[in-house]
Amino acid sequence: MLEHTVLYLTLISYIMFTYLFHGPSGCGKDTQIDLLATKLKFVKIGTGEMFRTTFEEGDPDGIKAHELWSVGKFVDSELTYRMLDKWLSKYDPNQNWIFVSVVRVADQIAMFDLLMQKYNRKLDAFIHLNLDRDTAIERMSMRRICPLCKSVYHLKYNPPIVDGVCDKDGIGLIQRDDDYPEKITNRLDEYNRTIEPILEEYRSRKILIEVDASPSIEDIQADLLEKINLF
Ligand SMILES: [Zn+2]
Repeated sequence: MLEHTVLYLTLISYIMFTYLFHGPSGCGKDTQIDLLATKLKFVKIGTGEMFRTTFEEGDPDGIKAHELWSVGKFVDSELTYRMLDKWLSKYDPNQNWIFVSVVRVADQIAMFDLLMQKYNRKLDAFIHLNLDRDTAIERMSMRRICPLCKSVYHLKYNPPIVDGVCDKDGIGLIQRDDDYPEKITNRLDEYNRTIEPILEEYRSRKILIEVDASPSIEDIQADLLEKINLF
């Protein structure tokens, strides 16, 4: 009986996977992960939900982090990882875990390694969705939002029924400051500078999967699935 249990647990830990998704804003990683959920079973773990929930629960670290993220500032690695350490204890260790953007700067690589050791897991793949400059500009510069209900439209992929106004309340749509081409390219340049050492590290460990995020949602998903299956 005991042998069976041991064999079962060994099998479970063998099949169980841990992936980490990353990519610049506009690369569509959340859409891809949601699509993947129709084929694979996993829990999705990101810092966004962690920051929001711990703040709502009145956790002291959650409140500290909120002072930063609520005004668009970067929550430092030490605080983020102290929170993530506690946060992970609520997830079933026998499930597949997909992390989203939890290694954003190079010093978080070692912190993430330590955390995985503590939870008896190893990272199987770092999946990076690459977005070239032209696609980033096309995706984001055509974005329009409703200042009243915050609905997001895209002039090419998801246009409003009547040109320039919100479907829900008829309010005139606006373009966010961040969505002008110059801001987009600045943001992308900064992203590329930060990500390079991270990609380098995971490439040397042979767990880097690079996916081109410029084709259609379906094509990206097909490419992603094919590359994951090779692992
Ligand atoms: Zn609206």
